[in-house]
Amino acid sequence: MKHLIDKLEQTHSLTKEEWTALIEGRTPETAAYLFTRARAVRHKYYHHDVYIRGLIEFTNYCKNDCYYCGIRRSNQNARRYRLSKEQILQCCDIGYELGFRTFVLQGGEDGYYTDERMVDIISEIHGRFPDCAITLSIGERSYESYRRFYEAGADRYLLRHETYDPQHYKILHPEPLSAEHRRQCLWDLKEIGYQVGTGFMVGSPYQTAENLADDLLFLEELNPQMVGIGPFIPHHDTPFKEHPAGTMELTLFLLGLIRLLLPKVLLPSTTALGTIAPDGRQQGILAGANVVMPNLSPTDVRKDYLLYDNKICTGEEAAECKSSLEQQMNAIGYQVTVARGDSLNTNMEL
Ligand code: SAM
Repeated sequence: MKHLIDKLEQTHSLTKEEWTALIEGRTPETAAYLFTRARAVRHKYYHHDVYIRGLIEFTNYCKNDCYYCGIRRSNQNARRYRLSKEQILQCCDIGYELGFRTFVLQGGEDGYYTDERMVDIISEIHGRFPDCAITLSIGERSYESYRRFYEAGADRYLLRHETYDPQHYKILHPEPLSAEHRRQCLWDLKEIGYQVGTGFMVGSPYQTAENLADDLLFLEELNPQMVGIGPFIPHHDTPFKEHPAGTMELTLFLLGLIRLLLPKVLLPSTTALGTIAPDGRQQGILAGANVVMPNLSPTDVRKDYLLYDNKICTGEEAAECKSSLEQQMNAIGYQVTVARGDSLNTNMEL
């Protein structure tokens, strides 16, 4: 297995068979070796810095019905909310004071936020905080909408491809959602000029090692600036409520692999990882991740953006969220940095 890790570090590419063999044949020893190599690469480009992004979960209305997600349309028990432009700007004000220079606007696919409303929100943030990056994570929209948001001042877009395999995608999402359309959105975003982030859940129901190999091959093909992965965690009001959560062990292994595959990638140690283990986010950093995304959403709506059960940080103020993360990072020898943290991966060729 060690020879495959060396090959990955040197060539940034493996075949589907090699990816599958590496994932299926992993051992604690291979993992330890992988993490040493992943950290070496991460330190070369990003030293011991950890970038922070202020996450604003501005709506939990969603027209989609993804079988795994707690804010899916059919969940009648979800208490729905939307933030006004003023509330979103207030979150940015608080975040800016705390040192955040990237704001991530994330939400369900909510028709209330028409192109006009989104352009208005993005332009206001851009005008008020010209030194900040604006990241959107609002799902699938048309090429024209993405272009308008970009022109209004959005810089980055997060859209996990969720799973490459069309059959597996169908198991996780009802029609008319499709793997092909999701990926087309990513190519559109890239063509427009966004710094693009994609990713997938680890241990989602019915996921195989071959599925993960396909996901990694897709990452190589897309060459995104950011990759978000985290364990699948069941939500009690979804059809997948009985399925087991993905493991920290496999999530960490994949973080290490992704660091070697895309050395300069911005790789968050996610809230989901922090949810399945108290030291999950620290372990993620030690496996090669270099970003954390503390929550800036108002505390009274935090617990309503419940994608999965037991989500952490739903009761903390933004400042508490940030300072506890800072302490966690310092404890493992890393420091949170307030820079905008643009990707060093500037190869935007399609
Ligand atoms: N609606 C936007 C979209 O589709 O990209 C952004 C919000 S969506 C809720 C953000 C991400 O949450 C998804 O890409 C998915 O991978 C993750 N997610 C949803 N339910 C989850 C669960 N039960 N466990 C772990 N991650 C989950």
